[in-house]
Amino acid sequence: MKKFLIITLIVLITGCGGKKVETETEKEPDKQPVEEKKELTLEDYKNNKVNELGEVPIMMYHGIHNKKNSDTEYTGGNVDKDGYQRTAEAFRNDLEFYYKEGYRMIRLTDYVDGNVDVELGKSPIILTFDDGLENSIKVTGLDSNGEIIIDPNSAVGILEEFKKKYPDYNVTATFFINGGIFGQEKYNEKILNWLVDHGYDVGNHTNTHVNFSTVNAARSEEEVGKVYKILDQIIPGKYVNIVALPFGSPYDLDHSNMPHIFSATYDGKTYETKSALRVGWKSESSPFSSDFNPKFLKRIRAYDNNGVEFDIEMNFKLLSNNRYISDGDKDTIVVPTTSKDKLGNTYNKKVIEY
Ligand SMILES: [Zn+2]
Repeated sequence: MKKFLIITLIVLITGCGGKKVETETEKEPDKQPVEEKKELTLEDYKNNKVNELGEVPIMMYHGIHNKKNSDTEYTGGNVDKDGYQRTAEAFRNDLEFYYKEGYRMIRLTDYVDGNVDVELGKSPIILTFDDGLENSIKVTGLDSNGEIIIDPNSAVGILEEFKKKYPDYNVTATFFINGGIFGQEKYNEKILNWLVDHGYDVGNHTNTHVNFSTVNAARSEEEVGKVYKILDQIIPGKYVNIVALPFGSPYDLDHSNMPHIFSATYDGKTYETKSALRVGWKSESSPFSSDFNPKFLKRIRAYDNNGVEFDIEMNFKLLSNNRYISDGDKDTIVVPTTSKDKLGNTYNKKVIEY
């Protein structure tokens, strides 16, 4: 009993135990807690190949079409030649694949802030959707409570299916919208509110899907500022200050329009953008790596190309050698001694080397 109290005390002091443990302890002090957190040993780190300086995949999706792979004339689940559009069948297969490979979803904004909360031995993955397409979250009507009814074969419909199927998957995604929001005038406001109330995030993809390399500074500010204004009106304080760059342009952080994407005052309102997302090709650094630059983040194009040119298959093969693997504690950074010279921003967390 005494020993048990001491364990509880440690859990409370270090804050590493779940809240469930504390509550159960108070109610039934004689019963062992269900999920008692044990101290991890170096052996545990080794056995699980923990490496919190490994790479993190940020997947870039656009449209999800209610089709089978055999309905398209392109490779795998690509609906168009370049695979920006994907079949619902392929998207379901992607989600099964990531889960079985030991990936668990985290929010893009948490990643940027150095909050990586996944179980011991698992790896973080981030999902993003650009263009505010109708098939991101297709609304088919309202139920008797006035809540939106979501097409089960649209991206969010499928994500919700996986939320039920694998509760430990931590299903989430960030949707980057243009001025037309999700192109469903009747439901746009309800959709934005529904998304942020159900664990998803919404970010900025510019008002008219502008190519920043072809416009001036004032237009750049208008493009970014208008979308932040829409978000401020509909979901104030609940969206993410992240811009997905249309066409991935400009391709250089030193481009003269970049400062205007990051900060400006448009129409009387000042905005600050914390990250810009590129149309990338491969995984990104750990937020704790010296290579990490939250201002300019690469993404993986979620498409099929027979395992070449940085398609999903190729990227996850590459990741099998250098992926981020968690110690299950978001307040520590555990790194193998061999890669500790890669350590960058530690966000004031405790660093453990092994
Ligand atoms: Zn786009």
